[in-house]
Parts: sequence; structure tokens; C-alpha cells
Amino acid sequence: MLYQQLKTILIGKEPFGDILGQEEVKSSLKSALLMGRHVIIVGMPGVGKTTLAKNVAKLLPEIEVVKGCPYHCDPKDPICPQCRSRKSLSAEKIRGEQRFVRIQGSPDLTVEDLIGDIDPVKAIQYGALSLEAFTPGKIFKANRGILFFDEINRCPEKLQNAMLQVLEERKATIGSYSVDLTADFIFIGTMNPEDTSTEKLSDVFLDRFDLIHMSYPETADLEKQIVLSKGKKMTAFPDALLTMAIHFVRLLRESDKLSKKPGVRGTIGLYERSQSHAYLNQRKNVTFEDLKAVVVSVLAHRIALKPSVKFLQKPEEFIEEQFKQISEMYEEQADRGESL
Ligand SMILES: [Zn+2]
Repeated sequence: MLYQQLKTILIGKEPFGDILGQEEVKSSLKSALLMGRHVIIVGMPGVGKTTLAKNVAKLLPEIEVVKGCPYHCDPKDPICPQCRSRKSLSAEKIRGEQRFVRIQGSPDLTVEDLIGDIDPVKAIQYGALSLEAFTPGKIFKANRGILFFDEINRCPEKLQNAMLQVLEERKATIGSYSVDLTADFIFIGTMNPEDTSTEKLSDVFLDRFDLIHMSYPETADLEKQIVLSKGKKMTAFPDALLTMAIHFVRLLRESDKLSKKPGVRGTIGLYERSQSHAYLNQRKNVTFEDLKAVVVSVLAHRIALKPSVKFLQKPEEFIEEQFKQISEMYEEQADRGESL
């Protein structure tokens, strides 16, 4: 099985180097993966769930697959109808990161999309249970790799049940047919804890997974490191001003008036847009004015106000007001001679 290949890799030093911080998350993920358990990473958008799952794919060793097969069949033991009907198969090598398959959870996703379909014409021609009549679904593309199921709680209940059967019994039922699922993959799902537009995952469903909670960068310092490593660079950004920008986003996250909070993409947005604003105004350094000029455009749509506040204030006004408060605070500090 695929997860067994991770045994020696996960014990090494910092296998999840693409994510800064998040030590608890990393440790939970490692122990879950070692036992081949299915995990769901719970966290708000923009905390790094996808990056972390892609990092797992990257760790997988290089493997030999049938050249051109979308299901990454093993030349010695092919699973898809096409490879199985061919007499000779040519092989190629692919890296772990090429075996990352993302499925976006949505109410429109059907069991057939996910698992596959029986072609009625071929079923008559070859027999209903013949391999030739079966068109494999998306799940098979994750064969020998990572199945990353984003926002699994957005899927209809019927699909959740089909997923359960696949993960538990490695079997799937399509209509009245039962399909043996020989695909081998590591399952990593995600869900947004505050997404209310979705179906609740049943207890039976959740009982099959380990949940790993992932939140925003633990400290402002870590967030700064992330911003500096991921954000584009154009003009110099004074450190004190960047600290303030990060502090501002982190204060918004603590606000009890918000039902949707800005993630790290918001902070990176402030970093990048302030620089380009400075550049357009022919400045070599980002100034307070640059940050102030972009703050609404970057952050207002990344927040949502709770109903109690929503009728009194627009998100744009809320951001402006909060930004004014934090700037005054920083000004006072500067007046007192404390460094920004
Ligand atoms: Zn194949």
C-alpha cells in the first residue's frame, strides 16, 4: 500500500518544509499518515490546507507507470480497462507531485463523476459486469497518489455515502453494479468549519476520519516569514510598517464582529499592493500612505460582518474605521518614542 512507502520519509527531519510553523498539525498528520488513516483538515480558507496536502504528494517516491495512462497504472498490474486490454505496455517514471488529484466538493458532483459510469452500449456488447463497459471516474486518477478532496462537506449526502463505501470496503456501487476499487491512494479531505451553506457531515461519516484542525499562522513573526517568502517584491517595505500591516490583519481575526476573517492571502495582498502603489507613485519605499490606499481593496471582501453589525456598517467602512484605530495606536507609540 501507498502509505507504507511514507514510513521512512516521515521520520526524517521536517518533511513538511513548505509550511512554516503549524507543528501540531504536522505532527498529527504524520501520525495519521503512518497508519494509513483517512484525514480531514479542518480550517478556514487560506490557512495552507492545499499546500500541506501537496507537500505530502511531493514526499512520495518516484514510481513507474504506464506511459500516458491517466490512472497511473502499474505496468506490472494495470487497473484501468484500457491498459488491461493492451498486450504490451511502455513505462515512464513520474514524481510524487505529479500524482496529486484535487476534487472540488460541490452539490453538483455526482457518484458517476467520482467513481465512474457503466456505458450501456458497451454493457450490452461485452456484458454488464465487463471491465470494458466501465469508464473510471475521477477517484481513479488519484491511483498511487494523493486524493485531495476539497470542501468535502459541500457534497450531497449520497456522494458522502459512496465515498464511505470506497474508503471502507474499497468497493463502489453504481446503479445495481458493484465495482471493485483497486485504486490505492492517500485520502486527504478538507472542510471549512464556518461554512454554513453546506450539508452537515453525518456522525457515521465523520467516524471514519481523523480531524486535524489548522488555523492561521501561530505568531506574527511566522506570518511575516510567510509573507516575505511568498509575496512578490517590487519596492522596499520598511519592517515596522510590515509589522503593522500584519498586526492589523491579525487584529481583524480576533474581532468578535466578523463571521469571515482574512487569511494569509489578505496579508500577502497588503504586502504586494502597497509595494506596487508605491512604485506607481514613484517611491522607492512603501509608506504609510501606500498601505492606507490599498487596505480596503485588499481586505473588505475578505471579511463578513456578523448580522448584528451588518445593518449598521458596510465591510468597507469597518475596515477603514479599524485601520484608523490601529494607525492612531501606532502614532501614539511613535510619539512616546517607542519603536513601531
Ligand atoms: Zn491504465
